[in-house]
Formats: sequence, C-alpha cells, structure tokens
Amino acid sequence: MEDYIAELNDAQRAPTLQVDGAMIVIAGAGSGKTRVLTYRIAYLMYKGVDSFNILALTFTNKAAREMKARIAKIVGASEAKNLWMGTFHSIFAKLLRYEADKLGYPSNFTIYDTQDSQRLISSIIKEMGLDKDIYKYKQIQSRISSYKNSLITVKAYYQNAELMEADAMAKRPRMGEIYEAYMDRCFKAGAMDFDDLLLKTNELLNRFPEVLAKYQDRFRYILVDEYQDTNHSQYLIVRALSDKFQNICVVGDDAQSIYAFRGANINNILNFQKDYDNVQMYRLEQNYRSTRNIVEAANSIIDKNKTKLDKVVWTANEYGPKIKVNRLITDADEGRYVASSIFENQMEHQLDNGKFAILYRTNAQSRAMEDALRKRGIPYRIYGGLSFYQRKEVKDLLGYLRLIVNPKDEEALKRVINYPARGIGHATVDKLIVAANHYGRSIFEVIEHLDRINLKINSGTKTRLENFMNMIKSFQVSNQTMDAFALTEMVAKQTGLVQELKKDSTPEGVARMENIEELLNGIRDFVEGQKEVVDSTGGLSEFLEDVALATDMDMDKGDDDRVALMTIHLAKGLEFPYVYIVGMEEDLFPSGMSMNTRSELEEERRLFYVALTRAETQAYLTYAQSRYRWGKLVDAEPSRFIEEIDDQYLEYITPIETRRYKPLVDKDIFGEVDKSKLRLKKPISGTPPLAHKPTEEQLRKLRKLRPVSNAPSGSTRITSTPSDNLAAGMRVEHMRFGLGKIVRVEGMGQDRKAEINFDNGGLKKLLLRFAKLKVI
Ligand code: ATP
Ligand code: MG
Repeated sequence: MEDYIAELNDAQRAPTLQVDGAMIVIAGAGSGKTRVLTYRIAYLMYKGVDSFNILALTFTNKAAREMKARIAKIVGASEAKNLWMGTFHSIFAKLLRYEADKLGYPSNFTIYDTQDSQRLISSIIKEMGLDKDIYKYKQIQSRISSYKNSLITVKAYYQNAELMEADAMAKRPRMGEIYEAYMDRCFKAGAMDFDDLLLKTNELLNRFPEVLAKYQDRFRYILVDEYQDTNHSQYLIVRALSDKFQNICVVGDDAQSIYAFRGANINNILNFQKDYDNVQMYRLEQNYRSTRNIVEAANSIIDKNKTKLDKVVWTANEYGPKIKVNRLITDADEGRYVASSIFENQMEHQLDNGKFAILYRTNAQSRAMEDALRKRGIPYRIYGGLSFYQRKEVKDLLGYLRLIVNPKDEEALKRVINYPARGIGHATVDKLIVAANHYGRSIFEVIEHLDRINLKINSGTKTRLENFMNMIKSFQVSNQTMDAFALTEMVAKQTGLVQELKKDSTPEGVARMENIEELLNGIRDFVEGQKEVVDSTGGLSEFLEDVALATDMDMDKGDDDRVALMTIHLAKGLEFPYVYIVGMEEDLFPSGMSMNTRSELEEERRLFYVALTRAETQAYLTYAQSRYRWGKLVDAEPSRFIEEIDDQYLEYITPIETRRYKPLVDKDIFGEVDKSKLRLKKPISGTPPLAHKPTEEQLRKLRKLRPVSNAPSGSTRITSTPSDNLAAGMRVEHMRFGLGKIVRVEGMGQDRKAEINFDNGGLKKLLLRFAKLKVI
C-alpha cells in the first residue's frame, strides 16, 4: 500500500488517508480527484474496513469498472469483489431488486429505457385522443423525467399551481393526467423507468425507516465522484444513507457542472458544508493531465464565468504546442481537415488511433466526421449514438426475454406479440389495451382471462393469442432450469425470429443477423462472467438489468484501437492525448438554445472547459463558415469561446487577418453587450450572417422564464363539461368511447367518478378528472 500512497502528491494524500468523517474535494480538471477516490477506497480496505461497507458512486459504469480493477490490483481481486461500485442507477436498481415488494413492485421489475418510456407516453397520448403535435411525446417524457428528478410526484404536481399553470401556458393542460396515466401504466407493467430508480429509492428510504437503517448500517463509507452533477433525487439518497455515520467523501469541480439541463444542481456541492458536521474541505491544484498551454487556456476561459468557486489550477508539465485553430469553408471540409490532421499526427508521432478523440456539441455533427474518417480508412467508434441494445432486432429478442422474466411488461409485449407476424393485428392489441386499462390489469393477464371477458375477438385470433401466451409460459418453465444463454438461443429459434431474419439476404439483413449473434455472444460472456461474482445468480433478469442500464460507453471493451467520437457531455472524466473540438461556431457552441440567460451561457462555457481539459498534449479547435443544419446550408460565425482564449495560447492555421470579427473583450454576457457592435460590418461570404433574432423555440423558453400569472390562461380551452354539472340520466360524449348515458355519479373532487353506459362499449366507470365528457 505504501508504494501506492507514494504515487500521490501531498494534497492528494490528505483526503486519501482521512478514514472517517465528511469531506469534500473540490478541484479543477485533471488534478487527480478520481485518483484520490480510487486510492481512498483501497486505503479504507487496507485499514480494515470491510468492502461490504463501502459504496462508491461513479458517473459511468465504465469508470466504476476501471476503478475496481485498479483497487483489485492494490488490495487483491477477492477483496474488491464485494464493493458496491457503479452509477447511481445501477446501484439503486440492485438495491430495489431486494426491496421492491415493499413498494408493490415485483422483484423482477422491468427497467424501461427512454425509448420504452417514449413509446408508452406516445400511446397514452393517442389513447387520450390528444393532438400529438401539441403533446409531443419526447418533450412530455423529458418533463416527466425532470419532475421525477426533483421528486415532484403526481400528487405534488397537482398541488403545484405554478407547474400546472406553466403546462397550461405551454398548451398542455392535460400534462398531469398524462403523468398520472404514465405512472399507473408503468406500475401495472411492473416497470420502472430510469428516473424511478432514484425516485423509488427515495420513497423506500423515506417510508420505511427500518430499510433506511439497514442500508445506513451497511454503507458506512460512501464516496461520490463528479458530485457537481448530482440531481436533487440523487442528493437526497446520498444524504439519507450517510446521515448516521457521516463518513462521506465527495469529489467534484463546480467548473465542470454540465447537466443542469437534466436537473443537476450545483448547490449540492456548494451546500455540502452545511449538510454535515465538521466537513473537511480539500483542494487539489496541480493538474497532471495536460500541457501548460492547455491548462492556462482553460483557466482563461473559465475565468469569464461569474458564478464559480475560486480555484487554482497549475501544472508542472511543459508548455507543449499551442492550441491549433482552423477555419474551414464547410462542415465537410472540417471533417476532411480533422481526418487528415489525425493521419498526419499518426505518421509524425507514431500514434495509435485510440490516442485521438473528436468532441462535438451535438450528435448530428458526427456524420461529416465519419464520412471523412471512412474515406481515409481511419477506424473510429461513435459513442452515444443508438446503442447496440437499442437496435431493432436486438430489442425484439430482448423483448421476448423481458416478457419471460416479467409478463406484465407492456412495452415488451406490444413489441413482440405480432413479431414475427402471427396474425395478431393492431385492432386486437388496441382492444387488449382498453380492457387492461379498464380492469386495471396487465395485457398479459387479459390474455390469460380471455374466456371471461367479452372482447369481441374472433375465435381464430383468440387461438393465436392463446398460442402466444402458452409459448411465453413454456419459456418461463425453461427459464427455471436453463441458463440465460441456452434459453435465449431457444427463444430466438422457437419464436421464428431467426428464420424471419434469415429470409433477408441483403447486407442489412445479414448485419441484423450478426447483431443477434453478437447478443448471444454477449449473453454467453455474461453467464460465464457472473459465475465469479458473489451475489449474482447469473440469471436472465440480472442480464436484462445490465442491458437496461448499459450505455454504449460500457460496451467499449477497450481492446480495439479506434478514434473516439462523442459529445462533450459524454467525455466528462475521460482523457486523450489529441483532442479535436469541432463545430466551434456561434449558435452551435454555445448552442443557440442556451443563450437566453447568463446561467445558460455559463453552462455552455463550462462545457467548453470540460472539452478542452480532456486534452493531454494537443488540442484543436475547428469551425466551418457554413454547415448543413436541419437540411439547410446555413452561414456560421466562429464561436465567442475562441475569442475568449488569450491569443498567446493559440496558433491560427488560417491566417489571422481573415478572421471574421474582432476579439470580444472581456464583457461577453449576452444581453449586456450589443453583439452587433462586436462584429465586423461586412460579412466575408456573399450571404449575410444569420441574424441573432430569437427563434420560436427561444421565445418559448423566454416566456417560460417569466413569472407565471395566476389568472386562468386564455390558451387553456376546456371544452368538456365541468364534472360537478354531470348527473345521472344525461347523455354525454367521450373522446374515445363515443356516446353514452350516465348511470350514476359518485365521489367528490379528485375521486369523482361516473358510471356510463356507452352505446358501443357497454358499461364503464370513469374518473371524471380524466374523462373529459361533453354533455350532448
Ligand atoms: P476530471 O476533473 O477530468 O475528472 P480528475 O481530477 O478526476 O479529472 P484524474 O482523472 O484522477 O483527475 O487524474 C488526471 C490524470 O492525472 C490521470 O491520468 C491520473 O492518472 C494522473 N495523475 C493524477 N494524480 C497524479 C500524481 N500524483 N502523479 C502522477 N499522475 C497523476
Ligand atoms: Mg475525474
């Protein structure tokens, strides 16, 4: 152990060797925060702390694996095995498996990925008969996600006039109903989405003091990396678990807080000292990662932010080459330049592909880069695109597996019930959904009780449904005895999935079949690998959990040598010798969507700080004068961030006199400075530069930022009859069920219900706050 301690500098050693108490390490990029966390865990174990009592939360599963591997080297593999180390989501998914029954969930609950959530929301919107152009499922999903991460449950939502008003102003007055229906459907499907993993953990720890006490006792030492990007929900979990022993160590950098748009709360880091007793605060100042040019340039950028903690970052490394800046005519040229520059660097310095990263603000920018790399024959890997597990054929097979583990899983069922085609059409599935909603059951349960429900399904379809159900049930029986790999192979064949894919001999079809084989290989590896893990069953449900929480960063086995392409958000915590930051243009980076307020602009600047500080030896900044965006060629201007770096750190590859505008002075805050005055009057190309007129999207955002009025919004048009005015005997119209007559009205307020005899649908009981009825 002493040898390892010697690998730390004095400042790093202090927090590493402090065993007990609350501590926070705030330090700039590349100063060894992650290293401190890793060595600290090893040291705790060396000092006799049982690995069973340590919980470490990281930003990616890959980071957790790497840390674990390092710790295993120091303290031995068998010691490291018991460590609970991973992302918030994977750790608390695991915890919830043990405790799910307390919350009314099965322990084999499904984890819905974002695609599943969006599909479900989209079908709820359809079922409610809402306009999908106003109720956009992606927007709704992200709103629900942000509610959950702020612990705003459906009930809290209905009590929050401001939120409801904001949704009403956004012409989405029925947002609360969608949220409620979504929660309800997830619950009935035995499914949790990503945000539920945190929300439900909070619920569990709040509602069951004995459970809280159990985990407080277990996790006596808690460590959190990238603490600056924890959201409220994560903050509360950490706070609750560490409350008893207060042995907590968090590390972070306020200058690298880049997830505010997803609910990360910088105050968590700023308030840490208030939350615990006798907090030790440590600062690390020496950067070991980057050249002096890069470190100083990065410092000069972050200096422009007003909201920040004072920090020093310096390095003993050499100055190194200056940051290269290049202007290209188009985004395709930019791609070609980056590819040939990588090639030249490889030739000149004899470097592997893996030493290079291309970072961009938005995923859409990867295409031009890919095209150019491909033409040059440089192998690359895109992170954060469609992950392997999200490809259609892979998800189809996983759909069957999910259904075997949890037959209530609605999204899985809808996916595979008629794939490969077995004559069960949309109309049938719609009927099943209506029945499932009506009886408060899952679709699978409805199929199990087809005989007892009159669904107006013909006997042929009924038989097909029963065959489907029996097939799934027989797989469930096999799951008791077969391992996950053997079972999956059987499922792939017996469902007809393999035959279906084999029919298609086009290159795409062959690639799909290869993906299925790859999935099978993955399952085999998993089954083999899990044999070594202590508290693992190696079963299907555990595999599915891994899959649901895997990002494609996790798929990276690190054994193939490729150039890495990813968004800056994903690059957090990583490092590469050569880094190309591309698309350094106004409206792209900083993003046009994030220039409305100073705090948004400051977050963009922090993002740039993160990007630049990934580079060890050499950084490149490139921008194009025009680029294809949303299918159109648009003019672009260089990013203000280039101007913000002191010229002494930069080397312009394009001659400096052709730069398009004078350097911005230190005042850069949107709104305080008239931007038009800072630009050269005459644009270089023939077309005028893009006017910085706010787009519709920006205007909408601006409006949202204003305080909302309490007066009923004019845009909320309620066409239905208020439920208080409804009475038995009235004829009413329902958006889905059509015309009918009210038989009975009962209950008060939120619980007010009506029993209605629909002309075409029979008797139904409806909650009136959902059922918008119109009296005829
Ligand atoms: P980030 O803010 O980007 O997450 P960080 O503060 O977590 O960075 P690390 O990733 O832990 O920094 O360290 C940056 C690099 O410096 C790593 O390559 C690490 O191995 C190296 N390093 C850290 N401390 C030392 C040290 N005392 N001696 C030599 N190298 C070090
Ligand atoms: Mg780190």
